Amino acid sequence: MKRYDLIIIGGGPAGLTASLYGRRAGLNLAILEKAVVGGQMRLTSEIENWPGVDRISGEQLSEKMKAQALSYGVEIIEAEVKELAAEDQASGAPRIIKTSGQDYQAKSVIVASGAYHKTIDCLGAKDFVGRGISFCALCDAGFFKNEPVAVVGGGNAALEQAMHLAKVASNVTVIHRRDKFRADKVAQDRLAKQSNIFVILNSEVRAIRGSEEVEKIDIYNLKTKLTSTLPVNGVFLFVGQAPYVNFLPDAVKIAPGGWIETDRRLNTSLPGVFAAGDVRHTSVRQIITAAADGGLAALEAYKYLESHF
Ligand SMILES: Cc1cc2nc3c(=O)[nH]c(=O)nc-3n(C[C@H](O)[C@H](O)[C@H](O)COP(=O)(O)OP(=O)(O)OC[C@H]3O[C@@H](n4cnc5c(N)ncnc54)[C@H](O)[C@@H]3O)c2cc1C
Repeated sequence: MKRYDLIIIGGGPAGLTASLYGRRAGLNLAILEKAVVGGQMRLTSEIENWPGVDRISGEQLSEKMKAQALSYGVEIIEAEVKELAAEDQASGAPRIIKTSGQDYQAKSVIVASGAYHKTIDCLGAKDFVGRGISFCALCDAGFFKNEPVAVVGGGNAALEQAMHLAKVASNVTVIHRRDKFRADKVAQDRLAKQSNIFVILNSEVRAIRGSEEVEKIDIYNLKTKLTSTLPVNGVFLFVGQAPYVNFLPDAVKIAPGGWIETDRRLNTSLPGVFAAGDVRHTSVRQIITAAADGGLAALEAYKYLESHF
C-alpha cells in the first residue's frame, strides 16, 4: 500500500492550493481526484473575481493551478475515494483511504471534495449551464448588465441573490413552486421594496430555451395549469447545494445540510483530518475562500504531523 504524509481528497481550488502549500512545506503528498482537476471552477466560462487577473476562463485557471501544483512535484491520482477509515482515531496512526482503484495510507488527510448545486429537471437545464444558467449571482451577475434574468428558488439564498442581481440586471423575476417563500421575513421585506424584482409563485420552470445562449423560459403555473413564456438572458438556480461527504466515517461531525464541521484551524472532529473549501460548513463558497482554506489546512496538517510523528 502506498504511504503518504498527506492525502488530499479532491482536486478543486481548495485541494490544489493545499497541495502547493503542502509540497512547499516538504510533505510527501498526493491528490485523489475522481473527475477532472479544477472542480467546479471548470464549469464557469469566465472568472472575474480572482485577484490580479481581469478575466480568465474556469478551464484556464484550473490548468494554471494544476501546472503550478505539478511543478512542485504534486502527485495527482485519478481515483474516487470510497471510504476514509477511522479505526485509528485514538492512536492518531495512519489512516486508510479506500478508492475505486487501490487503497492508500496517510498520516493526515484534507477533505476538499467540494459540493454540487442541485438543479431542476426540465428541458435545457443541462444544456445551458455556463451559457445563461448560473448557480452563483456573486460570480456571474456582471454578465447580465441591463438584461432580464430569472431566479428559481424560494429560500434565503434565492432571495439574497435576487437582491444582488437587481443592482445589475434590468429586472429579476423570482419563480417559486410554492405559494410562499421559505426565506425569512427580513429577506422577503427587502425583496418587496425592490421595484425591479417581480415574483411568480405556485410555478415551475418547465423549459429553458435559446440557440447559443438562454433566450427565454417556459413557466408552468401549478394552480391554473397554464404555461407562459418569459424572455430572459440568465437563469439563476438556487434550489439547494449539497457536499460530497458520502465516504466519511461517522466520527466526522456533520452540520445541518451535510456540511463538515470544522474549527477555525479547519480541524474536523477526527484528529489529523482537516476539511477545506466548499465541503465545509461556511458562509461563502467561492474560489478564493476555497483556496484560502486549502492553504490553511495544509499548514495545519504540517503542524499536526510535526507534533504527532
Ligand atoms: C457554474 C459555477 C460558476 C462559478 N463561478 C465562480 C466564479 O466566477 N468565482 C468564484 O469565486 N467562484 C465561482 N464558483 C464557485 C467555485 O467554483 C467553488 O466555490 C470552488 O470551486 C470550490 O472549490 P473546492 O475545491 O472547495 O471544491 P470543488 O471545486 O467542488 O472541487 C472538489 C473536487 O473534489 C472532487 N471529488 C468529490 N468527491 C470526490 C471523491 N469521493 N473522490 C475524489 N474526488 C472527489 C470533485 O470531482 C472536484 O473536482 C462557481 C461555481 C459554479 C458551479
